[in-house]
Amino acid sequence: MLRLLVFTLFTLAAGPFHWSLSDVVPIASAAEPLNVVVTLPVLKDWAQQIGGSHVQVTSLMTGYESEHTYSPKPSDLVAVRKATLLLEVGAGLEVWVSSLVKNAGNASLQVVTTSRGIELIPDRADSAEETHHHAAGNPHVWLDPEAAATMVQHISDAMTIADPAHATNYRANTAAYLQSLTRVHQESLARLQNVPSRTVIVHHPAWPYFARRYDLQVAGTILLQPGGEPSARHLHRLIETIKRDHIRVIISEVQLNQKVPQLLARETGARIAVLTTLPGGLPGTETYLDMLRYNVLQLTQALERT
Ligand SMILES: [Zn+2]
Repeated sequence: MLRLLVFTLFTLAAGPFHWSLSDVVPIASAAEPLNVVVTLPVLKDWAQQIGGSHVQVTSLMTGYESEHTYSPKPSDLVAVRKATLLLEVGAGLEVWVSSLVKNAGNASLQVVTTSRGIELIPDRADSAEETHHHAAGNPHVWLDPEAAATMVQHISDAMTIADPAHATNYRANTAAYLQSLTRVHQESLARLQNVPSRTVIVHHPAWPYFARRYDLQVAGTILLQPGGEPSARHLHRLIETIKRDHIRVIISEVQLNQKVPQLLARETGARIAVLTTLPGGLPGTETYLDMLRYNVLQLTQALERT
C-alpha cells in the first residue's frame, strides 16, 4: 500500500501520466493479511476482533493447557518465524517466549507485551508454604475486563503501526469492541451485585484481578504452585477455613485436575463452580466476552444457591 501511495504521489508530481490496471495489480496482490502469532487464545480472539479479514492469527496454546506448564511445539517455532507480530500477556506468564523468539531468528518480528502499563497485584505470601513463582506480580490481568481494554488497545496500536494501510479498520473495530466489552462488564457487575455471599476458594492464583473488579474475596487457594500438588497440611487448613468462614463456593478451573476441588467439596459441602481462565476451555466460551458471561453466570448461580 505504501508503494502504491509513493507511486501515486510520484506520478501526480510528475504531471501528465497514464497507467493501466495491470500496473497496479501486482502491488495490490502483495497486500497479504498481517501475520499475527499469539501465546494464549484470549489474545487470538482480540487480534481477530480488531484485525478482521486483514489479519491471519495463530495461537500457540489452545485453551486446554495450563498457561504455566506449557512447553512450545516445533510448529510454534515455524509459526513465529513467519510472523510479523507476536502478542504475549507478559508479566512473567509466558516464560518460554523469549527463547522461542531467539530460536526463531525472525529479525522483523515485533513482540507486543499486552499487559504493559497495567499495575500488577503482588502475589500474596500468607505463610512459608504459600510461596509463588511470579516475581513481577500476578500475571492473570486479562480476567479483569478493564485491564482487558488496555490489552485490546495495545493490540490495536501494534496492528495500526505494522499495517497502517488498514489503520481506519483497526480503529473502528477496536472502538466497537470496547463498547461491547463495556456492556458485558456492566451486565456482569449487575449480575454479581446482590449475591448473598462473596467469598470463594480458588483453584490456582488466577483470580485476584477478577475478584477485585467484582468485589469478591478469595479466602484460600488450592494450588499454590501450578503443576504441583497441595500438601496434606495445606488441604487441612483449607477445609478448616471453608468450615469456619462458611464458604459455600469453590472456583475450579477446567484446565486443572478436578480431584482436589471435588475432595474439598465432599469434605465441606461447598459447591464447585467450574470456570475457565481461557476462552475455548468450556463449551460456550469461544470468545472473551462469551467466557466472561459464562464465568459470571456460573459463579452467580453457585453463590445464589448458598
Ligand atoms: Zn495461571
